[in-house]
Amino acid sequence: MLIGHQPKDFLLSVEGLTVSFDGFKAVNDLSFYVEENEIRVIIGPNGAGKTTVLDLICGKTKATSGAIHFRDKDLTKMKENQIVQAGVGRKFQNPSIYDDLTVFENLEISYPRGRTVFGALTFTRDSVVRDRVHEVAEMIFLKDKLNMSAELLSHGQKQWLEIGMLLIQDPELLMLDEPVRGMSVSERIKTGELLNTIIKNRSVLVIEHDMKFVEDIAHKVTVLHQGQILSEGTMEAVKNDPKVVEVYLGH
Ligand code: ADP
Ligand code: MG
Repeated sequence: MLIGHQPKDFLLSVEGLTVSFDGFKAVNDLSFYVEENEIRVIIGPNGAGKTTVLDLICGKTKATSGAIHFRDKDLTKMKENQIVQAGVGRKFQNPSIYDDLTVFENLEISYPRGRTVFGALTFTRDSVVRDRVHEVAEMIFLKDKLNMSAELLSHGQKQWLEIGMLLIQDPELLMLDEPVRGMSVSERIKTGELLNTIIKNRSVLVIEHDMKFVEDIAHKVTVLHQGQILSEGTMEAVKNDPKVVEVYLGH
């Protein structure tokens, strides 16, 4: 617990979170707090529980105990689709884009249904959606590729498209599991720029192994080991922590 702070002071407050798979605690009494407009990176060895933490936040896995507050809502009591509607977007390790659709169509179908800004006028809605698709396409470096079939994109461009499909829903918390895996150096740099642009309106929770990338983007780093926090702080502090060097960075 943080003395003097209330969970509602943070965008996301994870407190005493535990999940047990047949008695094995993949996440064990974990607490951490993410602020608004923060890029938080979770690092740690394979099997540390990183992906499970994202699964718990997005409701894919149910917690055994503990609380996950997203502002004033306890996500542990909500279903996956309610969590998405509350403003949490999550990207999985493998892109789930529609290969046979164009970039434009992939973004268009991800625009939240039922969000009718100007009533029932289809004509008006179409132009609102089109403008938003163009805006997001520019952010994800694909504005020249709108009419291209998604299957023709490079691996990195596919990753950006999937981030765009989440951004078009305007989540307040965006969670990304190893977003730069398999990307070229220049794609990694652009992804860092993208994350820095999008946190103006939201927070980002990223799992990543590429330490150069983590160093470039992280405001704060949480190091997980055996479902618990091994160390937490700035990248500088964490990478000089002997415990972190021993279990993770030294390998
Ligand atoms: P990381 O992403 O840090 O590599 P994971 O969160 O994927 O680690 O996994 C943490 C541990 O929990 C691993 O030992 C994994 O085998 C186990 N685990 C993850 N999900 C499940 C599940 N649904 N059922 C049983 N064990 C699981
Ligand atoms: Mg993982």
